[in-house]
Amino acid sequence: MSNEPLKKFADYPADSAVAEKLASGKLGFDPDALRDKYAHERDKRVRPEGFAQYQELSGELDVFDDDPFVEPGFTRDSVEKEVDVAIIGGGFGGLLVGAHLREAGVASICCIEKGGDFGGTWYWNRYPGAQCDVESYLYLPLLEKLKYMPKEKYSFGPEILDHSLAIAKEYSLYDGALMQTGVTNMRWDEDSKRWIVSTDRGDVIKARFVPMATGILAKPKLPRIAGITQFKGHTFHTSRWDFNYTGGNTMGDMTGLKDKRVGIIGTGPTALQCIPALGEWSKELYVFQRTPSAIDVRGNHPTNPKWVESLEPGWQARRMENFNIITNGGYQAEDLVDDGWTDLFGRQIGAMRDGEARAKMTTEEKAALKELTDLQKMEEIRDRVDAIVVDKDTAQNLKAYYRPFCKRPCFHDDYLKTFNRPSVTLVDTDGKGVEEVNEQGVVVDGKVYELDCLIIATGFETGTSFTSASGFDIVGRNDTNLSEKWADAPSTMHGLFSHDFPNCFFMGLFQTGLTVSLPHTLDEQAMHIAYVVDHCLNNDIGAIEASQQAEDTWCDVIDQKAHNNTDFFEACTPGYYNNEGKGGVNKNNFLTNQYGGGPIEFFKILEDWRNEGSLKGLEVS
Ligand code: NDP
Repeated sequence: MSNEPLKKFADYPADSAVAEKLASGKLGFDPDALRDKYAHERDKRVRPEGFAQYQELSGELDVFDDDPFVEPGFTRDSVEKEVDVAIIGGGFGGLLVGAHLREAGVASICCIEKGGDFGGTWYWNRYPGAQCDVESYLYLPLLEKLKYMPKEKYSFGPEILDHSLAIAKEYSLYDGALMQTGVTNMRWDEDSKRWIVSTDRGDVIKARFVPMATGILAKPKLPRIAGITQFKGHTFHTSRWDFNYTGGNTMGDMTGLKDKRVGIIGTGPTALQCIPALGEWSKELYVFQRTPSAIDVRGNHPTNPKWVESLEPGWQARRMENFNIITNGGYQAEDLVDDGWTDLFGRQIGAMRDGEARAKMTTEEKAALKELTDLQKMEEIRDRVDAIVVDKDTAQNLKAYYRPFCKRPCFHDDYLKTFNRPSVTLVDTDGKGVEEVNEQGVVVDGKVYELDCLIIATGFETGTSFTSASGFDIVGRNDTNLSEKWADAPSTMHGLFSHDFPNCFFMGLFQTGLTVSLPHTLDEQAMHIAYVVDHCLNNDIGAIEASQQAEDTWCDVIDQKAHNNTDFFEACTPGYYNNEGKGGVNKNNFLTNQYGGGPIEFFKILEDWRNEGSLKGLEVS
C-alpha cells in the first residue's frame, strides 16, 4: 500500500469538483469521518493468519464433503477407453465447452464429474433460497439455442440446475459421461500424444485433448474454530445441504426444523439467501456474524410475456454484451438490464462523466469523486437497514462499513426482514468471528448458544494453488508437475494454454477477461477451445502447446496491464477479495491475476487470434 496518507476530502481546494460536491449539502454525512470508521472496522477484522484461518475438508472433516444428493454406496466397474476430448468438470465451463465442441462436430467426448450429475455450482448449492444474483436472461447460457426463457428475472437454483441438465441433453454430453467420479491424476504420454486421466473409480481415460473446467469456489472450506468437530448436534456445509434432516427443498418447506434450534456461521452471499427460509422454518435461529453483508434492493419479478414476444433473434448475445460493457465502465445508450449491478457501476462512471470538469481533474480527484459516490451508495444501503429492521441494536449491527466492491455486492428483499422475527437472533461478534464450538453449540463472549443444528456458511477455497483447488495434480511434458510450475502463480498464454501441458486448456479464470456474469467468460473460452480442437482434428495436428516465449509475453502483458487495485483492496475489510486482509499481490487469487484491459478487450484478442488463423504462439507437432 502506498505510504502517502490519503488526502482528506475537506482539504480539496474550493474550486475542485470534490469541494463542489461537498458544498452542495446533499451528502448528509462527513466523508472523512466515514473513511476513518471504515479503517477502524477493517483493522478490527484483520487476522495475521490470513487464509490459514480456514481448513480443508480432509481427515475427520471429510464427511463435510460427502455428496448428499446421491444414493450412498454407488459402485461401478472401472472404464478404460480412448476419446478425442475428456472434459473435466460438468458445470457451466464443461457444459459450454461440450456444447461448442459438439457444434464443431466433435463426436468423441467423455465428461468426468465428481457430482452425481451436471450442474457444477448449481448441482452442489441447493440450499434453501439459492438463487443467481445476476439476471437470468443473460446468466443462463444458450437460451435461444434451447428455446428456453427463465421464469423470473433472477432464477432460483432448481431452474438453473434444470437448464444445465437440458444443455447436457441437448448436446448429448451424457453419452459416455462418468459421474460420481473424481480425477486423481493426469499424465501426458509423449509417445502416444495422449493424456492419461486416472480417476478414483479406477478408470483410465486416454484423451487427445483435455479442457480443465474444474471451476472456482468449488471446494468447501471450514474455519479453524476450536471444537468445531466436537459439536454433538447435526452439522453440514451450505453446499452439502442435508434435506434429509431439514426436510423441504431449495424453495423452503423445511418442516424438519420446526422444533429445532438452528445456528448458522457466516453472513456472506450464500448465508443471506438461506437465512430467510431458516428464519421461517426453524423454532429458533441464531445468526453468528463476523462482518455484515451490504444488501441492496433485488426487485425480482416474473418474466413479462409481452417483453418475450418483442425479442428479436440474437437478443441474448446483445444483452450479455450490453451488461458487460456497462459493468466494465463503458457507455451504452440503453441499460437493458437496469438492476443493482448496472446501478453500482453506472453511478461510478456517471461520477466521472462530467465533460469539461472531468478534463481538468487530477487522477487523485477522480478517485476521490468515485469514493464519494461509493460512500453515498453505502449510506443508502445502511439507511435501508434502518428502514426495515425494527430493533435498533440489531439494525446497527447489520450495517456494513466498507466500500461496495470490497466484498461481492449483495441484493435481497427478505434477508433484513428476517431479523424482525422474534425467533431470530443476530449474534454479532464485533468482527472477531466465532472462536469456539463445544458439544452443545456455539460459544461467543463466553455465552453458550445451545443448538440442535449448526450450518456452516463460510464459503469455498480460494487463493490457493490451482491444483489444490482442483484436487489433483497434472504431470505434463518432461515430467513437469503443474503444482510446481504454478506454485506461485498460474502462467499461461491467454489464460488457456501453458507450456509443457500440450492439448490441455485451463478454463481456470486466471489471466483471462473476467466478467460479472461468469458464464460469459466461460462461453468465450469454450468457443476458443472448440476452434483450436477443431483446427487440430481437421489438420492432423497431434499436439499444440504454448511456446515458452508466447507464455512469457502474455505474462508480461498481464503484469503491465495489471490494475490490481492493490491500494483499494488493502484498505478493504478482509475477505477472499484481498487475501483475507493480508495485502500484497497473490497471483493465485483469480481476482488479482487477470487481464487488466478487461473482458471486452480480451475477447477481441481471442477473436483476432482466431481470425489470423496461424495458431500464433502455439508450438505444433
Ligand atoms: P463467503 O466466503 O463469501 O462468506 C463466508 C462468510 O463466513 C463470511 O460472512 C465470513 O465473514 C464468515 N466467516 C468466516 N469465518 C467465520 C467465523 N470464524 N465466524 C463467523 N463468521 C465467519 O462465502 P459464501 O458461500 O457466502 O459465498 C462465496 C461466493 O460464492 C461469493 O463470493 C459469490 O461469489 C458466490 N455466490 C454467488 C451467488 C450468486 O448468486 N451468483 C450466491 C451465493 C454465493 P467475513 O466476511 O468476516 O470474512
